[in-house]
Amino acid sequence: MRILLVEDEYDLAQSTRKFLSENGYDVDIAENLRIAWESVQSIEYPLVLLDRRLPDGDGLSLIVKSQKLDPVPRFLVLSALGDLDDKVAGLDIGAHEYVVKPCAPKELLARVRVMLRLPRAVNMGCVEVGALRFDLASRVFHVGDKTVELRRYEYLILELLVTNAKKIVRRSKILDRLYGFDEVPASNTLDSHVSRLRTRLRDLQSGVKIQTARGLGYLLREEE
Ligand code: CA
Repeated sequence: MRILLVEDEYDLAQSTRKFLSENGYDVDIAENLRIAWESVQSIEYPLVLLDRRLPDGDGLSLIVKSQKLDPVPRFLVLSALGDLDDKVAGLDIGAHEYVVKPCAPKELLARVRVMLRLPRAVNMGCVEVGALRFDLASRVFHVGDKTVELRRYEYLILELLVTNAKKIVRRSKILDRLYGFDEVPASNTLDSHVSRLRTRLRDLQSGVKIQTARGLGYLLREEE
């Protein structure tokens, strides 16, 4: 099992590596954030041990950047910054564990073992059309940094359109999604939901529009 250790203090980095390798882990060392970022992009580390005070910045910024990797590595922050606020900041940002230095080697080893048993977050990514972004994991819409709230039917229609962006989605498929198979909605109901959704998308300056494919259905595309 290969681990990345981000640590700028040479002696501490070497002794930590020695101890972990005696216990069966291969350890690569990155002494600054730039090298660490290159390393996590080129090698899929299951675990990163991360110092905070590094020559080129706060280690926590690596956690933020790494959220776009797939899979996202697990981060164990190992820092002398041990106030409650520091810990909360680290965990809020996405660290899985926050250990205050100095830490007994045996404790570190135990925490490494626990961490490697945790499932890793799968980054499902998002779909973007115009300024509209749909997060596939949380199933939430955003325009810029704003979360978009929609009524239920509008949400269901937009979800279908965005996950099939630039393709025609048939009316029958949308109606099945909205009403199931039992109810037969009035034929103009879908049009009025779509009409409201169009207004909403325009007001949000989402940069997308819903085109009608006459006799077939609808498609979502970027505004010209
Ligand atoms: Ca340091």
